Amino acid sequence: MDLALRGRFCTCVDGDVSVHEGTIGVRDGVIAHVGAEPVEATEERAFDGCLLPGLVDPHTHLVFGGTRVDEFARRMAGEDYRTIAAEGGGIARTVRGTREASEEQLFELAAGRARALRAGGVTTIEVKSGYGLSTEHELRLLRVAKRLETEGLVRVTTSFLGAHAVPPDTERGAYVDEVCHEQLPAVAEAGLADTCDVYCDGGAFTLAEARRILETAKGLGLKVRAHVGQFDDLGGAGLLAELDGLSADHLEQVSDADLDRMAEACVVAVLLPGAWRTLRQTPPSAERLRAHGVTMAIGTDLNPGTSPTPDLSLCAALGVRDAGMTLEEALLGVTAHAAMAAGTRGGRIAVGEPADFAIFPVTDPRALGYALGGLRPSAVYLAGALVHEGPTASLW
Ligand SMILES: [Zn+2]
Repeated sequence: MDLALRGRFCTCVDGDVSVHEGTIGVRDGVIAHVGAEPVEATEERAFDGCLLPGLVDPHTHLVFGGTRVDEFARRMAGEDYRTIAAEGGGIARTVRGTREASEEQLFELAAGRARALRAGGVTTIEVKSGYGLSTEHELRLLRVAKRLETEGLVRVTTSFLGAHAVPPDTERGAYVDEVCHEQLPAVAEAGLADTCDVYCDGGAFTLAEARRILETAKGLGLKVRAHVGQFDDLGGAGLLAELDGLSADHLEQVSDADLDRMAEACVVAVLLPGAWRTLRQTPPSAERLRAHGVTMAIGTDLNPGTSPTPDLSLCAALGVRDAGMTLEEALLGVTAHAAMAAGTRGGRIAVGEPADFAIFPVTDPRALGYALGGLRPSAVYLAGALVHEGPTASLW
């Protein structure tokens, strides 16, 4: 073995959130041993606290330029989002800020955000495009996202979100045509996206438009996911079940019938507390999702407009407080179930899984859903390599 880590750990395999004591062995960046018995390795290390699989953030808009702090101030003072958007604010403003930035500047900004997520224990990040809204600019964002992984910062899975908004001065039918006939084929040809996402909601793209875009993406070999039911239930969750989608994200508004379809098709519900908090919305009910047998994950939704946070364990804690998730659901929601939603490996401590770990200075791993912000790992490993060190003192 290259590395042996000895201490207390939580596997998150098959819903197991209990604490085990033993050794995890790593060979060639992959977990090669998990058990009570020790193994010999080139490097051996005993640790305090509790080792978890590296956390997985299944929903981010990490690559963007510009800021929206002033807009937030206006919204909190009571101004209507639509008034601000009509003046060229909202997503359109971030599209301008993003297009004006160089690819190198966008990478530096995205890398800073990826490091902030990693300092919270996140080793795999789903990254969406969606602030380019043209073939050239969407490709640029996806290249930046992929580079976060090739430069060894974190693991990345990418989603093409050309259908985030209709760009200013563009007719919506013509734009949907462009997404299907130009953007998607170019993205698939370049191999830069793992999945295709659509913002299917009132004021965004219709169910018929979402179906057309996601079916086109499937035809090009991409997996699919979507933002659905943040404001209005258009039936997007049922569409994702029909199209074998990885995840349905937001879900403040969703019908019982579509929740049953999601459970049947194993579409993961990705809950986004940062967005419902910022928009002061009523969150989805975990009790209701649980009753329908829907698997739940939690994402930061890191974006400049509605969820400016890189703190995934804070989001887990808000999932518990606001939506009524159990501490165990919150822990699985940022590990094993988040990996299911992201469509990636990881999120579990098991032989054959990537050796990505976050060691937290806590005795009970459920502290992830308990600590209301500020919980940081003492060590983060990516493919068996130590990539970040944090505080070792236990707060809780
Ligand atoms: Zn989003």
